[in-house]
Amino acid sequence: MSFLKLGLSKELANQVSKQNYKKPTPVQNEAIPNILLGIDLLAVAKTGSGKTAAFVLPLLQLLEKPKKKKTRFIRSLILSPTRELAEQLKGVIEQFTDNLAYKINTMAVYGGVSINPQMQKLSNVDILVATPGRLLDLLEQNAVHLSETEVLILDEADKMLNKAFEEEMGKILSFLPKKRQNLLFSATFSEKIEKISSTILSKPTVVRIKEEENNIDLITQKAYLVKAENKGPFLRKLINENDFKQILIFVSSTRTADNLVQKLNKNGISSHAIHSKKSQAARTEALRRFKQGNINVLVATDLLARGIDIDFLPCVINYELPRSPKDYVHRIGRTGRAENAGKAISLITKDDAHHFKIIQKKMKKQVETVKVEQKPKQ
Ligand code: AMP
Repeated sequence: MSFLKLGLSKELANQVSKQNYKKPTPVQNEAIPNILLGIDLLAVAKTGSGKTAAFVLPLLQLLEKPKKKKTRFIRSLILSPTRELAEQLKGVIEQFTDNLAYKINTMAVYGGVSINPQMQKLSNVDILVATPGRLLDLLEQNAVHLSETEVLILDEADKMLNKAFEEEMGKILSFLPKKRQNLLFSATFSEKIEKISSTILSKPTVVRIKEEENNIDLITQKAYLVKAENKGPFLRKLINENDFKQILIFVSSTRTADNLVQKLNKNGISSHAIHSKKSQAARTEALRRFKQGNINVLVATDLLARGIDIDFLPCVINYELPRSPKDYVHRIGRTGRAENAGKAISLITKDDAHHFKIIQKKMKKQVETVKVEQKPKQ
């Protein structure tokens, strides 16, 4: 199937070939024609399977139909759980719109940076990518209006619909018109969230890409059972003995992230941390440098677990396990993307063993677990 056959215009299909996409991925095959029909959609497909283009491309086609522009009225809204993902989404959209014959203005708004420049720039925006908190601030100050928004997209929809965002989402929905197209995309979904999603979606088409259609599993998973006190030295041994071009290491707290970076640096492994206690400028800079390959080892909290796309990232290490099995799937999904293979390694202590079993059960996959007997040399 080609992008043209999915109903995309010649111009957009051309934009796609400039990105070197040879053919649509399964989720693109299913989602694009449905979105072009103007109906509501719930799409579930694994991380790295091309979900962004699956909603961005048809959205751009829907926005080709001109509408009399009203300065602060947004035609389409994409909600993202993190600032980093919001910025990434804007970048992907702009890759497709930079040379379009019709002009599409995209803007990303999120907290952690000054609101005034955002308020000033919010004029004639076609696609607004936003994190919920900052969007609400802007709405409350009348800097932006959603009453004429035609399309609402939730990226990482299960996260956007869970408890943490419930209040903000409720408020945002009250600003939107009743008649609109709703698109929900996620790599993971539970029955509970699916139920909640029915309050947003109207007669949706559900697209669920099964694992086997997602190509072969590109992520090789392995776990090491280590003593808690040996974790640090074992991690360094892993890094030193393997020649990974880049490694993303996940931890559960900002404190562990900072401590780990300090230890790694002290032991000659240059690394950086990214987490919610860093300034937005530091977060943006660390991710930018990691994406460009100028940082080899990045230690992150779950801030980077969702949606973040790093070209050819060969290895993800769980220095600590996430609490939620879903987050495990999202974390390891930062590697093994766009048909490139990747490795996901988890360091498990005796106390984690039971939780890791639950993760494997939920994931429906057994992970080879190797017991590390010897204390590695310090
Ligand atoms: P996503 O799941 O949207 O984050 O996309 C994961 C990666 O796949 C990104 O680097 C995209 O550029 C890439 N990608 C998306 N669609 C295609 C396609 N049809 N062919 C090849 N690569 C793609």
